[in-house]
Amino acid sequence: MKKKQRKITIAIDGFSSSGKSTMAKQLAKTIGYAYIDTGAMYRAVTLYALDHDMIHDDEVDVEALTAALDDIVITFGVGKDGASFTCLNGRDVEREIRSMRVSDKVSLVAAIGAVRRAMVRQQQAMGRDKGIVMDGRDIGTVVFPDAEMKVFVNASAETRARRRYDELRAKGDTEITYEEVLANVQERDHIDSTREESPLRRADDAVDLDNSTMTIDEQNQWMLDLYNKCINA
Ligand code: C5P
Repeated sequence: MKKKQRKITIAIDGFSSSGKSTMAKQLAKTIGYAYIDTGAMYRAVTLYALDHDMIHDDEVDVEALTAALDDIVITFGVGKDGASFTCLNGRDVEREIRSMRVSDKVSLVAAIGAVRRAMVRQQQAMGRDKGIVMDGRDIGTVVFPDAEMKVFVNASAETRARRRYDELRAKGDTEITYEEVLANVQERDHIDSTREESPLRRADDAVDLDNSTMTIDEQNQWMLDLYNKCINA
């Protein structure tokens, strides 16, 4: 009888727009694991806060948002084309959460301790049975410090901004400039790595990947090779 393959937990962390979601999604598909985009969860909370008038300029009404956390239900659906989308209280918000309106404020919301604790709790519940690929900023350090496979992805801010800019243009955003996207990427890098609550940092046992000059196919192969090594370890 064929031995059943053991399931592991895969944590992929890195800076904004490093391409980690694309790789994580592809790896999950190839090996038949669930995929969770934790950035989408922080983005959905941010959209909720914006829609409920809880953010003014760069000030978040922490008390109101904390009180509302139990009313924010984030789930993931899969469309007919097989692509996953994020739902906020049952509504498909995938497009809205990728807008600059949300990107501009998400790092402020993600720096709030109560928000992080609520998200981490949900993420740990989603990964209880292993067989999961999760990407974010604190997956290998806080959410799943015991993950069997940890990757830390990086690329220069310019490369990441160019990718994000091309993505937004391809989605029909013709207003945005490259400079605006670069400024947003740098601003989020700064807030994410200097915040008090779970700052973005590489787990000591993570494997580094700088994908600045790699094609998508090369990145996917790199991930698969590492997975095969981890599963057979
Ligand atoms: O991955 P993405 O760029 O969509 O994440 C949006 C923002 O959510 C990040 O800039 C970061 O502030 C926050 N985030 C986080 N922890 C995670 C995932 C995302 O703080 N695990």
